[in-house]
Amino acid sequence: MAAAAAAKVQEVRDVTRIERIGAHSHIRGLGLDDALEPRNVSQGMVGQLGARRAAGVVLEMIKEGKIAGRAVLIGGQPGTGKTAIAMGMAQALGTDTPFYGIAGSEVFSLEMSKTEALTQAFRKSIGVRIKEESEIIEGEVVEMQIDRPATGTGQKVGKLTLKTTEMETIYDLGAKMIESLTKEKVQAGDVITIDKASGKISKLGRSFTRAKDYDAMGPQTKFVQCPEGELQKRKEVVHTVTLHEIDVINSRQQGFLALFSGDTGEIKSEVREQINQKVAEWREEGKAEIVPGVLFIDEVHMLDIECFSYLNRALEHDMAPVLIMATNRGITKIRGTSYTSPHGIPIDLLDRLLIISTSPYTERDTKQILSIRCEEEDVEMSDDAMLALMKIGMETSLRYAIQLITCASLVCRKRKGTKVSVDDIKRVYSLFLDETRSSQYLKEYHQEFMFNEIKDESKPME
Ligand code: ATP
Repeated sequence: MAAAAAAKVQEVRDVTRIERIGAHSHIRGLGLDDALEPRNVSQGMVGQLGARRAAGVVLEMIKEGKIAGRAVLIGGQPGTGKTAIAMGMAQALGTDTPFYGIAGSEVFSLEMSKTEALTQAFRKSIGVRIKEESEIIEGEVVEMQIDRPATGTGQKVGKLTLKTTEMETIYDLGAKMIESLTKEKVQAGDVITIDKASGKISKLGRSFTRAKDYDAMGPQTKFVQCPEGELQKRKEVVHTVTLHEIDVINSRQQGFLALFSGDTGEIKSEVREQINQKVAEWREEGKAEIVPGVLFIDEVHMLDIECFSYLNRALEHDMAPVLIMATNRGITKIRGTSYTSPHGIPIDLLDRLLIISTSPYTERDTKQILSIRCEEEDVEMSDDAMLALMKIGMETSLRYAIQLITCASLVCRKRKGTKVSVDDIKRVYSLFLDETRSSQYLKEYHQEFMFNEIKDESKPME
């Protein structure tokens, strides 16, 4: 029943993946050509050529499955595109390779131990590609009859009789499924396919059954007079799910609905051992293969010494994913110790990393990134406003300048304008402080704040 479980997971993923304009939604890949050379502006990526070239090599090794259990560190000043590069790698890997990202601080939660949080993150980055033979029945609908459940009876199940030229199939269906069939206007003359393993019905290659209906459909589906013949096709169906998803589905306390909420709590180690064993069996029988994905840990300096030692050990595992970490810290304390180390990472872990560094942007690159963001956010900006925003980006930070785009466009809309002008930029620049002006303000007015720890130098020493 691996395929049914995998299909469920797929449905859950389809429901939960919502497109939003996020900080990195303009990034669609690493922007490399066939020879892995970075184009200056491509797929939403700008400049940072050295780091992108290096990331491209890592990406190629991941695709060839050569570096499972290896780790990469992207280091550089704040706002130099470390996370953007990791996101570009995720996009380039495609949906079949798991990519999971967390921030170092997320590991410290009250609900689960640090090692449990890291174990879950690791298992969310390891894919299991399950191969299963499925019977796909394809045929023209000759007759279709839907008995809807009488309204008000609380009855949830209806019946669908479907006759193709060579067979008759009867389904007991959930109300949702009936609604879906009616909506899709399935009628006599339509060519449809039915996947016997998952119960999926599709019309013109578009499937419209819903996850909720599987339970109702699976066991109760009756196939009658189903002769061996041209209407039955054997097809290899491949699903990729993560080890964590298999853990959750098989964890009796959680059940697969926990995948919707993400509230999975701790998973027992016995469950994981059983899953590992099962997956090993599937691998031996040729039913499944492991796809080492990518685990991205942003702000990795937030991890403490215990987490680092966990990472060291976890990377040795034969099913380990590729670990990509990012940090903007220089030489600093390793959390949980009084020792300092480059990037706040212990030397023994640092020693096994491939390190990629990012550098600050030129005026041209900054302007290019800002104009890509304007396009992403559907904001029209005059040339001189763009120039002003670029100058702000160079003097303060790229992030601050990116934030001003949405604010300036709101101010522009308020005055019923269609194009953001220099005045709109000036307005928002004075409304919202960047980090330097904010600290300057704090220094000037520190006496008026609570819990102030700066000594007032104008007062005589006691
Ligand atoms: P921090 O160290 O503060 O976490 P970071 O190096 O991870 O910073 P990002 O968050 O990647 O920086 O970059 C800030 C913003 O600029 C993001 O919206 C990002 O998508 C965008 N950006 C950065 N570099 C590039 C680039 N080379 N091309 C396109 N967009 C970029």
